[in-house]
Amino acid sequence: MIGGIAGDIIGSVYEGRRAREYAFPLFVPSCRFTDDTVMTLAVASALLDNASYRDRMWELGRRYPHAGYGGSFHRWLESSDPQPYHSFGNGSAMRVGAVPWFFRDEKDVLREARRSAEPTHDHPEGIKGAEATALCIRMALDGRGKPEIKRRIAETFRYDLSRSCNAIREHHGFDVTCQGTVPPAIIAFLESRNYEDAVRKAVFLGGDSDTLACIAGSIAEAFYREVPELIIREVVKRLTMDLLGILRDGTARQGTERTRRALLPMIAALAKLEAVAGLELLPARINKDCIIARVAGAGSGLNADAVCSFIGTAHGLRYGTLVLDFEGRDFGAEGVEIASLLAEAAASCIVLVVNPAPSLAATLQPKLPKNARVLAKLDHAVNLADLLAARAVEKVWD
Ligand SMILES: [Mg+2]
Repeated sequence: MIGGIAGDIIGSVYEGRRAREYAFPLFVPSCRFTDDTVMTLAVASALLDNASYRDRMWELGRRYPHAGYGGSFHRWLESSDPQPYHSFGNGSAMRVGAVPWFFRDEKDVLREARRSAEPTHDHPEGIKGAEATALCIRMALDGRGKPEIKRRIAETFRYDLSRSCNAIREHHGFDVTCQGTVPPAIIAFLESRNYEDAVRKAVFLGGDSDTLACIAGSIAEAFYREVPELIIREVVKRLTMDLLGILRDGTARQGTERTRRALLPMIAALAKLEAVAGLELLPARINKDCIIARVAGAGSGLNADAVCSFIGTAHGLRYGTLVLDFEGRDFGAEGVEIASLLAEAAASCIVLVVNPAPSLAATLQPKLPKNARVLAKLDHAVNLADLLAARAVEKVWD
């Protein structure tokens, strides 16, 4: 599952515009999860709870209305009685990734792939795209080799898998159909050397890059049995807590041992962060490589240990930007430890300390490296989320 989600996030900034080179940066601050992730997790949540695919897609989709859905799917989400609309878009293939992890028998995998497609994508090509993607993943999980996967998928679904990524790239436009997305995504996987290579090749094809990378990434995760830890960390930072909850439960139940070992402690750390009493985490962290916390007042029970634990955990998760709004709260002598930890974090990430109490600012200032900044006079009315949106951090910085 995380293989598809990572592909979606990595490809999100190249949707409709081609990456200039194969060696593009995997994660930039504007990388975000899109509809591919939300719907993949909706299907996973239906599988985890034995609920209906339709209901879970509708519920989770409505919770994330701006994830980048197509027009028809948007109307489907807005309807109080959503009906299939005969789509053959690639939506059925991009969301099927969890199915083959939950069913071992190929017949069950194909049946469930079809069922997960049908609430919206009941066109034969829509169903075929979901089935082909799911069967690839199941075969990869079963340890089948690439030549066998290629032959079987080409024969069963009449997909042309004989082209090369290079040949496809020359003629590839923005194609959001199943039949125009699934074969190139499978080819990106077939030509790959490892997980990252599969995602890079899929994104580099251009076009609907997040979905291409989501599908290729789902198959590659199953085949190589490993998504690099660095990629997992960047994914965790970009998902919301409720999406992470589904990913955690799905991975705990069906993921590989390696993914479980890397992913579950990171989600636990983040959950701990959110649970620190008196810290309000702002939603700007959803789409940014940035985490913002507001320190509550003296009556909140929030102590210096909790603030230190926040800084340590956020630093451990390698956020690029760490923002802490102290709202003038004075931690007295304990401010020294907070200041030391902030200074340590500032050595490797951007640290923005907002409205520190004068004593904390005085302790902090000499310890901080040049790239850190203390905003002692920021008006409380300033919304930090706005401040950080769209590169505002750099502007505040200079
Ligand atoms: Mg998308």
